[in-house]
Amino acid sequence: MRSRRCVSIVLSASALAGAALLVASTTDAYTLTGTNLGLGARDVRVFDNFTDPEANDNTTLDPNWPGVDSAPLALWKGVAEWSSVLHGDGSGDPSQPGDLGSGGANFDVEWEGLAQSPGGVGDNTMSEIAGCSGGVVSFTETGAGGWRMRFYSCFTFDDGPSAPVAGAIDLQGLVTHEYGHLLGLGHSNAAGNPTMAATLPDLVAARSIEADDRAGIQAIYGVAAVSKPRIRALAGHFPIWILGHNFAPTGNVVRFPAGDIPPTHSTDGGTVILTSMPVAPIAGDVQVQIGTTSGAELSNGWPFEPNACHRPSTYCTAKVNSQGCTPVIDFTGTPSASAPGAFLISATNVINQKSGVLFYGLTPAAIPFQGGMRCATGALRRTAIQSSGGNPLPADCSGTLSFDMNARIQSGVDAALVPGTAVFAQYVYRDPPASFGAGLTDAVAFTICP
Ligand SMILES: [Zn+2]
Repeated sequence: MRSRRCVSIVLSASALAGAALLVASTTDAYTLTGTNLGLGARDVRVFDNFTDPEANDNTTLDPNWPGVDSAPLALWKGVAEWSSVLHGDGSGDPSQPGDLGSGGANFDVEWEGLAQSPGGVGDNTMSEIAGCSGGVVSFTETGAGGWRMRFYSCFTFDDGPSAPVAGAIDLQGLVTHEYGHLLGLGHSNAAGNPTMAATLPDLVAARSIEADDRAGIQAIYGVAAVSKPRIRALAGHFPIWILGHNFAPTGNVVRFPAGDIPPTHSTDGGTVILTSMPVAPIAGDVQVQIGTTSGAELSNGWPFEPNACHRPSTYCTAKVNSQGCTPVIDFTGTPSASAPGAFLISATNVINQKSGVLFYGLTPAAIPFQGGMRCATGALRRTAIQSSGGNPLPADCSGTLSFDMNARIQSGVDAALVPGTAVFAQYVYRDPPASFGAGLTDAVAFTICP
């Protein structure tokens, strides 16, 4: 049993003028086709047989989308826009900086990298197909518990990330629309929501789903449950730490692009998983699945790169300080045992004119501590005491702290800080009116690169 949905893209300037006449009315809304995408069909792979040079000329690798460039990268970003939360740090598209992953529903995609052929219906792949079919640009076949998406070669496709060359179709915007159909959305005439419009004069604008699209996907899959598992960071290699929240006490299936790892337990209140990897891992998305009945039991996809260092990321929970501010840890640079340049770990929203210190350990945690959370455990190391500076007293939240971890790594003062080591770092600072007289930021997880 197969069904087929088609989209024809209107690119002309006259279509743009016509669309502008569709003013908003009270009936403007998303529409539903009555279908949805099952839990077993939310993986995506691309067979990169796109023939246009414009479809494969973006050779800039993006660490937030590891392992692919060109057409597969554009297609990955298009489907990931429908994810429940930001994909990694949300970066990768200049038309919506820091905002890729906007669905807010019980729906998440897992990117599994490249396919070796177009496969069959149910293999959940995307690829070009030779020829033409009138004005139809792309179509999706469904069946066998899955789908297959094709793009007609008689059109010219452009992989972005800037706007397409004249006459070419923006692949990322096109697949955002076409994948919306696969999710169960029909066309929408809601103003200011270009993704699911019936005519698509601006496919770059269509890359970003807006309020009406979010309402549609949430109507189909439900608003992302507060209990939905979420990945916030990866660290280490063999084994690998997965940090986030809402992991199950037992029975977490860790889904890697190269295959699933048998169920494993979590620790620290469902915030930490330590897992092995497939024998031959490939780049893509990792997910944690805690059940098989609903997308509320499947986490967001998190970028996974087996052969290099994971991107640093924040995790754990900060303690609100005596001035009512939530201190924030952040970082710039890349942790490295050899590269020049700093890897700065900073804290803002800290009480001014107080002492603070960055400490770290080699095991992540979430342990109640001084009225907040301690986010690392094992043998903890302290760096030098600093002053938060900021405004003169009285107290406010203008204090900041900053420490160059690369200087410490490369100094050799801590023999544990070698390439491949996973490190979990957090600031503690003085906050006399607060409980225990202490303030705590959230934490940064990072893996030291060569
Ligand atoms: Zn359509």
